[in-house]
Amino acid sequence: MSLDLLIRGGTIVDGTGGARYQGDVGVREGRIVEIGRLRSTAERVIDADGLVVAPGFVDGHTHMDAQIAWDPIGSCSCWHGVTTVIMGNCGFALAPCRPEEREWFARCLTAVEDIPTEAMLTGIDWTWETFPEYLATVDGLPKAINYGAYIGHSALRMYVMGKRALSETATEDDLARMAAAVREAIRAGAMGFSSSRSTTHVTPDDTPVPSRIADWSEVDRLVGVMGELGAGIFQVGPDISGGAAQRAFLARLKRVALESGRPVMFGTISSRQGVDPNPWTYQLEYLDECAAAGARVWGQTGTRSINAIFSLKSYLPFDVLPAWRELRRLPLAEQRRRLADPATRRALIAEEAHMKPRDNVFQGGGAATTDPRRPDYDNLYAMKDVDWNDPTVAQLAAAQGKHPVEVMIDLALANDNQVFVQPIVNEDPDHLLGMLRHPRTLATFSDSGAHVCQEMGSSLQTHMLSYWVRAKGAFTLEEAVRKLAFDNAAAWGLADRGLLRTGYRADLVLFDAARVKPAMPTVESDLPGGARRLVQKAEGIAATIVNGEVTLESGQPTGRLPGVLLRGPGAATA
Ligand SMILES: [Zn+2]
Repeated sequence: MSLDLLIRGGTIVDGTGGARYQGDVGVREGRIVEIGRLRSTAERVIDADGLVVAPGFVDGHTHMDAQIAWDPIGSCSCWHGVTTVIMGNCGFALAPCRPEEREWFARCLTAVEDIPTEAMLTGIDWTWETFPEYLATVDGLPKAINYGAYIGHSALRMYVMGKRALSETATEDDLARMAAAVREAIRAGAMGFSSSRSTTHVTPDDTPVPSRIADWSEVDRLVGVMGELGAGIFQVGPDISGGAAQRAFLARLKRVALESGRPVMFGTISSRQGVDPNPWTYQLEYLDECAAAGARVWGQTGTRSINAIFSLKSYLPFDVLPAWRELRRLPLAEQRRRLADPATRRALIAEEAHMKPRDNVFQGGGAATTDPRRPDYDNLYAMKDVDWNDPTVAQLAAAQGKHPVEVMIDLALANDNQVFVQPIVNEDPDHLLGMLRHPRTLATFSDSGAHVCQEMGSSLQTHMLSYWVRAKGAFTLEEAVRKLAFDNAAAWGLADRGLLRTGYRADLVLFDAARVKPAMPTVESDLPGGARRLVQKAEGIAATIVNGEVTLESGQPTGRLPGVLLRGPGAATA
């Protein structure tokens, strides 16, 4: 047989969880056509000696909706072996949207997901209005990874109800129009319908986003449309205002799942909700109870804590203080010069005493990054590598006999890219391991494309491989690949991705199992309009292949853009 691509002599970890073996993978016309000891000739041969050859990873919880317009390679997910993402999570989407509401939409995404408004207004050629028109745009955009998308509840509500969406219950007429739009979206190929009831999701005016105004009967009605069509996933950001609130939320969500018959996903599973403890174990038991009752519910989780991230180049916890505010407006070189000046430094350190103490109100990454209250230095880590074993600022201050602020200034002066990490939830690795081990969870909560300067979850796949597989031995490589590729592909109904199997799409990642890991995050000003974001690449990934074409080689984009729009199974029923 004559192949387009032959990957020779790799260690095949095929995504089923089955044991690895040595072999070759043959690719033709975007699909895997042969696996084994191959004698075929090929246009291109990649020597995979010493490398693992695995199915490309699937990330189901991203917010790449805006970024896809200006970033064809699909960073930062693409750096971590991801070949397919699902976007439009938590009810936030760029469609449907009327032209006169575009700017408001952009500001909402800035408020909730920290995607800079200027990047969206300069970086997006916003030609669509309806969801099918948005999908057609995504279909036509150059892209190096595959994308699926949900229709988002907050976008839909604004589209149908205008500003009433921010305060009013939907009328029968509103409901009928929203239901029609969900039907139209699923038939066009939406992966499902997404929503949020999370208290961290607010508009630029600090009011609840539209999906939080909806009552549950509206959710029943809209998810019910997917039930009628027999297609589509319901994804929802959970109520995290407190333990009792989350229990009520989960109980009601179970009813949605049972009545609609559709698969339901919520996430992230987390170790705290508001000020009340609501153990993560309860959320796992809930998943089993749902299954026993006949509902199909998944909990989404990351592979490490969700963190607010600080650095000299982005946010520091002291930015609200007057002397700091003045300093932080200056060019970086001038900030460094002043931070090194003893008198200025003393004044800056002294000012910290005026910050208000913290309470324990639950915050999302955005609020945490810009919180005007004094940091908890016992929960603020000076990141030294990616091994999840960093010292706290309090520990460093005690060891060095310095004020915590001085420790942070010294580290930032020594290294522009010094990052400080404040865990928000799931900071205990044992909790996270319990979540990851549960059979009804999905390792997928990256939030990639969102919180661009405040959080960095895009490395969840390489963290899984370096931390949980290599450092901790908590999962075998086979188990981890299955979780990152096949389990997610199966949950989203991607019938020909997530496994190395003949006939499947040739989405592959080739990596060195002894070296693969996330690189350190850095702050770059590479968004449209020059806005900042956190960038995190990876080490040890030799090549990424999407639909049979090599998109990244040793971390360098090849310029090939073979990614496609994935239409959900509802498109076939149209
Ligand atoms: Zn989200």
